[in-house]
Amino acid sequence: MSQPPIGLAALAARLRHDLDLLQYPPNDWVKPRRAGDGKPIVDVVIVGAGMCGLAACFALRRAGIFNIRIIDGGEPGREGPWVTYARMETLRSPKHLAGPALGMPNLTFRAWYEASRGLDAWEALGRIPTDIWMDYLIWYRDVLEIPVENETHLERLDPAAHGFDLQVNGPSGAETIAARRVILATGREGMARPRVPAPLSGFLGPKCRHSSEDIDFEAMAGKSVAVIGMSASAVDNAASALEAGAARVHVIVRAPEVPRINKMKSTNYPGFTHGFPSLPTEARLDLLSYVFRYRVAPPRDSVRRVWRHRNVALHLDAEVTDARWSGEQIVLTAGAETLTLDHVILGTGFFIDVAAPEETRGFADAIATFRHGVDNADGRFLEEFLDFPDLGPAFEFRERAPGAAPFLNALHNFTFAATVSHGNVSGDIPCVSDGADRLARGIAAEIFNEDFPAHLADLHAHAEAELLGDEIPENDAWSPPLE
Ligand SMILES: Cc1cc2nc3c(=O)[nH]c(=O)nc-3n(C[C@H](O)[C@H](O)[C@H](O)COP(=O)(O)OP(=O)(O)OC[C@H]3O[C@@H](n4cnc5c(N)ncnc54)[C@H](O)[C@@H]3O)c2cc1C
Repeated sequence: MSQPPIGLAALAARLRHDLDLLQYPPNDWVKPRRAGDGKPIVDVVIVGAGMCGLAACFALRRAGIFNIRIIDGGEPGREGPWVTYARMETLRSPKHLAGPALGMPNLTFRAWYEASRGLDAWEALGRIPTDIWMDYLIWYRDVLEIPVENETHLERLDPAAHGFDLQVNGPSGAETIAARRVILATGREGMARPRVPAPLSGFLGPKCRHSSEDIDFEAMAGKSVAVIGMSASAVDNAASALEAGAARVHVIVRAPEVPRINKMKSTNYPGFTHGFPSLPTEARLDLLSYVFRYRVAPPRDSVRRVWRHRNVALHLDAEVTDARWSGEQIVLTAGAETLTLDHVILGTGFFIDVAAPEETRGFADAIATFRHGVDNADGRFLEEFLDFPDLGPAFEFRERAPGAAPFLNALHNFTFAATVSHGNVSGDIPCVSDGADRLARGIAAEIFNEDFPAHLADLHAHAEAELLGDEIPENDAWSPPLE
């Protein structure tokens, strides 16, 4: 006979007990600091409350760092892509991954799903619907009491003697936050620009959208639509256009074949996770270049979702070489084809650019990337990886010229842009807990080292007597002496 679900209140109680068993919360050991004007300094500001920002916040607290603010530009419950521009029906990842649970069984998606819906429902679940994954992340934030400040946007980061001043704008207006350290957990597009095929660069607008934008699919009913690319996003956007009643959807792919394998999937094991960052730079660049030159297969469910329609055409070996307007329509030359289209969607992904976000633009030139110091004259590495930031062990930015921008040490990037430095631990679900743990331990170590004289003084001042002086009756030689 099937068991009824235990309910989320019971799960929260179990989780609290687990945390208690693990001595959570630990002592807040960080020395409070004040800025020059006497204003208290926040130890860590996390920008972005998607999966990575939330996991980073919990990991920092487990490391005894509690003076944290976490902001997100999105509305509550709409952080990240899941209920905004993720147009797939289900996640690509399998349901059993522990994801951002940081080693806590009762914090996993599975525990949440079973507690709210029961074991039978868990067993019957195939892939995780995207809106259900969002519900889980909302619960994660609630059960851990992570105080996200929503609709609060980081607009500028100014280096300061104490770390950074963040210019933010939120529901109660503009504010300057003095922070000792800043984590950018701003997502896949946080430090990136949309990749736009050159012939379409002047076409972005209502008729030509990147897949990460708001797209009016209703307007595509009865129309001719092209989707450029064969990524997961491209395929899901093609499905959305077809489901909205597009008359014909053309999937336009530069490569001559459809990729069938996701090589990165083979890297989800502890050796890779822990060992990748210490591989020589060239080995990391080689590996990632191989994976991305091989290309990544779109998910099978998404491909089937598109090709259950008949009004879809696949164009392989079809690089976009020309585009022009014909009245309201775009005439596209792709490979041997010329197509007249009402709408174009770019499922072409992003490229990393440290100068892309408004907030880092002022000092982007000072940031070290792999373009500085790596010889790629023979084209061995995929060019785009050279623009990834060369981050330190706590995901901190490093200076391009030593001594020119020491403040970068207080700015951490916990997004996909960390991939060449740290592997796949700061974006995707499988290893995000490893990444958050690495980030939090690194930050804790840096803060401790910076404050070491004060911690040493505390140690010298420590005077709690273990022996009270009555334990050895015949002894009167005690250190320190008894009063
Ligand atoms: C369509 C899609 C499908 C995916 N499917 C999978 C999958 O199945 N499996 C998997 O493992 N991975 C998947 N991923 C990859 C990854 O899991 C997601 O990108 C995930 O959202 C990463 O979490 P994050 O916290 O890094 O970023 P996000 O979830 O994007 O969160 C970043 C947050 O930062 C906020 N932000 C950005 N800039 C600012 C600013 N200046 N001020 C304030 N707030 C800001 C945003 O509002 C956002 O809420 C998918 C990604 C996409 C785009």
